[in-house]
Amino acid sequence: MGIVVQKYGGSSLSDADAIKRVARRITEAKKAGNDVVVAVSAMGDSTDELLDLADQVSPMPPARELDMLLTSGERISMALVAMAIADLGYTARSFTGSQAGVITDSMHGEAKIIDVTPGRITEAIGDGHIVIVAGFQGVSQDTKEITTLGRGGTDTTAVALAAALDADVCEIYTDVDGVFTADPRIVPSAKKLDTVTFEEMLELAANGAKVLHLRSVEYARRHFLPIHVRSSFSELKGTTVAGSIDDEARLEQERTMEAPIIAGVAHDRSEAKITVVGVPDKVGTAARIFEVLADAQINIDMIVQNVSAASTNKTDISFTLPGADGKKATSALEGIKAEIEYDSLTYDDKVGKVSLVGAGMRSHPGISAKVFKAVADAGVNIEMISTSEIRVSVVVSETEVDAAVAAVHTAFELDADQVEAVVYGGTGR
Ligand code: ASP
Ligand code: MG
Repeated sequence: MGIVVQKYGGSSLSDADAIKRVARRITEAKKAGNDVVVAVSAMGDSTDELLDLADQVSPMPPARELDMLLTSGERISMALVAMAIADLGYTARSFTGSQAGVITDSMHGEAKIIDVTPGRITEAIGDGHIVIVAGFQGVSQDTKEITTLGRGGTDTTAVALAAALDADVCEIYTDVDGVFTADPRIVPSAKKLDTVTFEEMLELAANGAKVLHLRSVEYARRHFLPIHVRSSFSELKGTTVAGSIDDEARLEQERTMEAPIIAGVAHDRSEAKITVVGVPDKVGTAARIFEVLADAQINIDMIVQNVSAASTNKTDISFTLPGADGKKATSALEGIKAEIEYDSLTYDDKVGKVSLVGAGMRSHPGISAKVFKAVADAGVNIEMISTSEIRVSVVVSETEVDAAVAAVHTAFELDADQVEAVVYGGTGR
C-alpha cells in the first residue's frame, strides 16, 4: 500500500458542494487502497478577500499578523474537507502546517520550508485516517511564529509532504487539465502537455505560468519527485512534471529530432520597468545602483545598459523588477541620486513579459529571430530582451501581452486543431 499526496486549490474548494465533491475524490483514492494525505488551499478567492480586509484596517499590517490572518483561510478548508470526508463514512484528521511538522525559516509572507517532521501525519495514517493538511503555511524554527510560504504556496506544501513521506505520487488538482502550452485563459487553442521536464517547468513557473508554485517545482526537482498536475473537475490524465533536459534519453530524442522543441509560452504582467536616465559612464556606478537595490531586498530580473552617447559620456540603465517593489526601488535610487549624479528616473508598471520556453532551443538555431519576427508581425514593440539556455523573453507594453503570447504560440505551431483547453473554475484572480 502506497502513500498518495494530493493537493486541491482554492477554485476546487469554492463552496460547500465543491468541498463535498473533493471529499468524494479523496475517499476514492483511499478506497483504492492508498494511504492518503491531502494539502488544501483556502476556499475560492478567500486569501485575496482576507488581504483586502487587512488593507482596509491598515495600509502596512505587521507581517506576523498578516500571516496569522492568511493562514486562517486554509484552516477553514481543512476542517470542512475533514467533515465532508467523515460524512462519507471515512475518518479524517486535519492538521495546521505547524501540527503537520512543516518547519520553515522566519521570513513572514515568503517563508522557505527547511524541514518536514511528519510524526503526527504518520501516526494518523497508522490509525487509518485520511490526513488533511492546511497548505501554504508552517512554523518558524527560530521564532516559533506561524509563517506563510508565498502566494500559491500550497503546491509546495504538497510536494514537501510527498517528499517527506516518500509518497508514490504527488497529484496537484487544479481548475485546468494540466500544464498547457500557454494560459488557456488567453490562448483557447493551447495544447495540454503530457510531460514536461523540471527545467522547463521551472522556467515556465519563474516567468509567470501560475499553474504551479515555483518553489514546489524546485523542491520536487531536488527530491526527484514527479508531480502530476491534473483537474479536480475531470477524470483526464494531466501533465507529468519529471525528468531533466540532460537525461540521456531526452538528449537522444533531441539528437534524433523526436523531442518537442518548445514546451510553451508563459507571460507575466506583474513586472515593472525602471530606467535610470543619464548615468555617468564610469567605473562602479552599475555596481552601486544594484547594490542599493539588493540592500532593499529587491529581486531584479532583466537588465539593459545602453552604450553611452559619445557627446555626453552618459548612459541609460533599465531593469525590470516585481511591480510590488516599485516604490521601494525608486526611493532607494532617489537616495543615491546626488552621489551617482544621474539625470532622472522613469518608472513604468504597464509592462509585461512574454517568454518562450523549450529545451530543444539548445539544438535549434533561429528561435530568437522567430520570436522577434512573430511579435513584430503582431505589431507589438519589444522594449527589452533576455535569454537563458532554454528561454527567450521579451518585455512589451502590458496591453499587448495577450497579442504577443498568441502570436508566438502560433508561430511555433503550438495551436491545437481542436480546442482542448477547458477552464473549469476559478476567477483567475
Ligand atoms: N491560499 C493561498 C493563496 O491564495 C495559497 C494557495 O492557494 O496555494 O495564495
Ligand atoms: Mg495555485
